[in-house]
Amino acid sequence: MRVLVLLGAPGAGKGTQAHVLARHLGLPRVATGDLFRAAVREGTPLGLAAKEYMDRGALVPDEVTVGMLLERLAAPDAARGVILDGFPRTRSQAQALDRALAERAAEVEAALLVDVPPDELLARLSGRWLCEAAGHTYHETAYPPRVAGICDICGSRLLQRDDDKPEIVRARLEKQLGALEDVVDHYRAAGVLQAVDGRRPIAAVTNDLLDCIEPVPYWRTHP
Ligand SMILES: [Zn+2]
Repeated sequence: MRVLVLLGAPGAGKGTQAHVLARHLGLPRVATGDLFRAAVREGTPLGLAAKEYMDRGALVPDEVTVGMLLERLAAPDAARGVILDGFPRTRSQAQALDRALAERAAEVEAALLVDVPPDELLARLSGRWLCEAAGHTYHETAYPPRVAGICDICGSRLLQRDDDKPEIVRARLEKQLGALEDVVDHYRAAGVLQAVDGRRPIAAVTNDLLDCIEPVPYWRTHP
């Protein structure tokens, strides 16, 4: 089974690439957020356990998350493999995943990092403005209004939510980048890390990612 891990900071475009890669490779994209929601909805034992933690506002332990992931990997549509999107988030989750896969004589075959420098991430994540009247969205560099501070569509004032302010985004990003770096180090040490330049256009990033994984002959000979 092919287990591909897609890594990237918030704003790096990882989620978009996970969807595109899933289509190209004919593998399901598995995101832990979706797993949680499905397991809770279906009331599986692990789903109920996860809900208990989430209801208390506590972090769901790695064993519970990995357990849900393994149940998902056992589903028929995952028989050829999966693309993991958003997991592992920490070194201990990466280690827990390795152990669980090893018990099934499987391993992470590639960890693909969509790499974007912190300054660029900050610009992407923090430049968002919303209009006061209708919530029309703009971005300082990617999609600026014709007149600064005024909505093109309805003429109302543009405001920035606290969550989109640079100082708030920077503090949150620094924490997230620290955890990502740990996971990247883990896979680099395992010899399965490949990084692509996430500043290139979306289609170019997709091609670079496919170049990273297509040469592996095992997947071609064992469809
Ligand atoms: Zn507007």
